[in-house]
Amino acid sequence: MTEKTGRYDDGEAFRRAVLIVLLIFTTAFGAGFAVLNYNNANYTAMAGEIAMGLFALCLVPVIRGTTQLIRWSFVYLVLFNTTMMLILATPQSSPSVFAWVLLIPILSHMLLGRALGGGVTAVFLVTALVIYYTRFSESSLNGNPRALLNVAGVALCIFGFSFVYETSRSRAERALKRQAHTDPLTGLGNRAHLKLRFQQATARHERDGTPLALLLLDIDFFKTINDTYGHEAGDNALRAVSSLLNDNIRPDDGVFRYGGEEFCILLSNASPARARQVAETLRRLVEASIFDEAGATLSFTTSIGVASFPRDGADLQALLGAADKRLYAAKLAGRNRVVWG
Ligand code: GH3
Ligand code: MG
Ligand code: MG
Repeated sequence: MTEKTGRYDDGEAFRRAVLIVLLIFTTAFGAGFAVLNYNNANYTAMAGEIAMGLFALCLVPVIRGTTQLIRWSFVYLVLFNTTMMLILATPQSSPSVFAWVLLIPILSHMLLGRALGGGVTAVFLVTALVIYYTRFSESSLNGNPRALLNVAGVALCIFGFSFVYETSRSRAERALKRQAHTDPLTGLGNRAHLKLRFQQATARHERDGTPLALLLLDIDFFKTINDTYGHEAGDNALRAVSSLLNDNIRPDDGVFRYGGEEFCILLSNASPARARQVAETLRRLVEASIFDEAGATLSFTTSIGVASFPRDGADLQALLGAADKRLYAAKLAGRNRVVWG
């Protein structure tokens, strides 16, 4: 099975695209505003806009390839927001500059997530409101107090909505990820989850040499259970075996539903000898178990193939291949047994 994965399939593609669009807009608007401020002789704002626009332009290729997206987004947003604050503080700027401040909550939550985005928003929104109050209190508070209330109210509403939106979006993303990695019948991890856990285990092996091994377990004559007791009973048996296996491995190990009535067990920190021992223990445990099914009692056995990393295969595919060959050998040899290398 080959699984095609995109270059950024970790949920960052959206954030990367948002940041690149923001950089392009910053350059375009920076240039436009710089011309306007030159005409208005607001040279401080003009310098800020040119610097920000150029910085944004140079950042586009960096953002396309970076693995430090959150870090860059944070640096960029802090600079972008600070420039905005400085422009708002210049005596020549108009109160309408505050309209840009309303982007802060939306962009911060989109780019930085709930916690960091919320923090950045709180800091800059309070700063912007203080600047706004200080600069325009004469006209807005004495002249029309509702103006300040409107500005603060809208800013806080956008902050609240962005926060709530990002919270439910990240929750939905987590739930989707969990679903994509879970087998619905047994609640065990599926092949996608196995792949992920294998990558983590091999990374650990590369760091500190921790050995790992893999068991491929297949229920013997499972078709007979379905044929004799019905498909529902077969499903219940699969759930029961899943719990049994899950309850009898160590917390660092993992059981995954590999196929119909096949399970894969990833053993972290297991030498070939320990893997054989675990496989034998699990085989005996299933053999000794009696599963109740609507008044009838059900029992069955399993065959297990054992493979160790990196001895039997340099990647998951190769290791599964080795374990599968041994599982097949166990079936040929009469079932209810463990075969290792
Ligand atoms: P062997 O000892 O050679 O492994 O024999 P077997 O009968 O276990 O193997 P076979 O591959 O012939 O049959 C597997 C059966 O598992 C066939 C299929 O209907 C059943 N099965 C696969 N997935 C499920 C499931 O989700 N629920 C139920 N109830 N049965 C399933
Ligand atoms: Mg099978
Ligand atoms: Mg089978």
